[in-house]
Amino acid sequence: MARPDELTFVPLGGVGEIGMNLYLYGIGKGPQRSWLAVDLGVSFGDEEHLPGIDLIMADIAFLEKERKNLVGLVLTHAHEDHFGAILDLWPRLQCPIYATPFSAALFQAKCEAEREPPKIPVTVVPSGGRVDVGPFNVEFVPVAHSIPESHALAIRTTAGLVLHTGDWKIDRTPIIGAPTDEKRLRELGDEGVLALIGDSTNAVRDGCSPSESEVARTIAELVKAAKGRVAVTTFASNVGRLRAIADAAREAEREVVVVGRAMERLVQVARETGYFDGVQNFRSAEYYGHFPADKVLALCTGSQGEPRAALARIVNDDHPQVTLNRGDCVIFSSRTIPGNEKSVGRIINGLVELGVEVITDRTHLVHVSGHPRRDEMRELLSWVRPQLVIPVHGEALHLHEHAKLARAAGVPKVLICGNGDLVRLGPGDPSIIGEIPVGRLYKDGTIVEQDSSRAVVERRKMAFSGCAFIALALTDKGELADEPEVDLVGIPEKNANGEVLDDLVFEAVQATIVTLPRARRRDPDAVAEAVRRAVRAAVNAEWGKKPLCFVHVLTV
Ligand SMILES: [Zn+2]
Ligand SMILES: [Zn+2]
Repeated sequence: MARPDELTFVPLGGVGEIGMNLYLYGIGKGPQRSWLAVDLGVSFGDEEHLPGIDLIMADIAFLEKERKNLVGLVLTHAHEDHFGAILDLWPRLQCPIYATPFSAALFQAKCEAEREPPKIPVTVVPSGGRVDVGPFNVEFVPVAHSIPESHALAIRTTAGLVLHTGDWKIDRTPIIGAPTDEKRLRELGDEGVLALIGDSTNAVRDGCSPSESEVARTIAELVKAAKGRVAVTTFASNVGRLRAIADAAREAEREVVVVGRAMERLVQVARETGYFDGVQNFRSAEYYGHFPADKVLALCTGSQGEPRAALARIVNDDHPQVTLNRGDCVIFSSRTIPGNEKSVGRIINGLVELGVEVITDRTHLVHVSGHPRRDEMRELLSWVRPQLVIPVHGEALHLHEHAKLARAAGVPKVLICGNGDLVRLGPGDPSIIGEIPVGRLYKDGTIVEQDSSRAVVERRKMAFSGCAFIALALTDKGELADEPEVDLVGIPEKNANGEVLDDLVFEAVQATIVTLPRARRRDPDAVAEAVRRAVRAAVNAEWGKKPLCFVHVLTV
């Protein structure tokens, strides 16, 4: 009898971090292995460390190399950290994509919003459906989350069944869609689950996440009690939340005005896919001013303080149609993603200065997480009864807490791995059997670059300590043919004593050339290097920082 196939798992992104999810499952051995990719997401750059970088993605060099063995990409749901890299990276892979109707529709809308809409085919699989992808059979098991149609994937192979949870929670009363399918998950447990690869986001939080229905009640009360205008900002993709806000507006006899491109797009996709059946029609922003203050509710983008989104523009009095004044109320039905605290703080302070009342999840239940807390994680384990748990979708702390919880719950084997670890799930003892090269890609403007690209490294240095440009003209005898040109960019004009830095650098350049032995002065590269060192040292002596320095030597 032939040896059973080896089933492997390798995260290329999403472990040790929250974002840029990209997981691979392999069946077979070595070059005979077939790969199934699950999700292809992004993380967002932060201005301080990565100036000018909008998106970060997992490096897919390995997958590009293995393209002929890549049988498909399956999407658990349509959050950016799970599907945001497809537009940029799919052209390098060209594999079939499988998604349920809402995720496919949202992806389609995203493609159409591009200046040159790409043609990327997606095979639509119904929620709860099953599809053969090469040697893998993938079942989309519905779970509750903060976007319609999130799925755990039951992946069946000749070597066993894996449950990849995706992003999930147990919400027994979601606003839209089915609750997490407990019955089906218990059945999978009966069938026998070799490994559970699970969401660790809220592994440090005790208890259970409140339901979306509780949030809906709070929002309804707040909107009902409001006297002036009401603006609500939330993640546009949380269609259940949008629906709850629409219901709250209707009960309070307010018209819903949609403000912001991303919100308009989501509303349209929700209507196309039936998630807004029975929801009243919304108005576009130009009607905002037509309604009395107590008859309008603005549904706005910008909950993360994004400077070009609706809310920031309203606060800066820069929105053509929408304004807020004393006595109005803004509800942040959202959580501030770490890294965005300052931008969100600026918006909130701006609103408070306008006399607007600001309500956040710090004082009211106007937001809940879409991820499971500890009791929910234990409950899932009791349904699925996996042989092995591998925590993913979390930073180191979340992974470790998830692992501890799984051990305490009696899971026979628990394994923590990192991005690039090739894990054998079976047959035999699960273990890390190899390493696959991983890295990051940066979306810099319209260009996707390696994280080692010099552009970002240089920009970060320039942002911190500026740049000095020196131009020299040397004769063939190694004498200066003219005065050196000095340009300092991003460097203070004068030192503490009021001396002009340009002049000090100029003197340092001249002194360096004069003191160089004549033979070395005939070598332009040697001159450039000596001047570069001298300039950086001179600026450091005056300023305490070494700038980047570029020296151009012309021989005349
Ligand atoms: Zn996620
Ligand atoms: Zn998600």
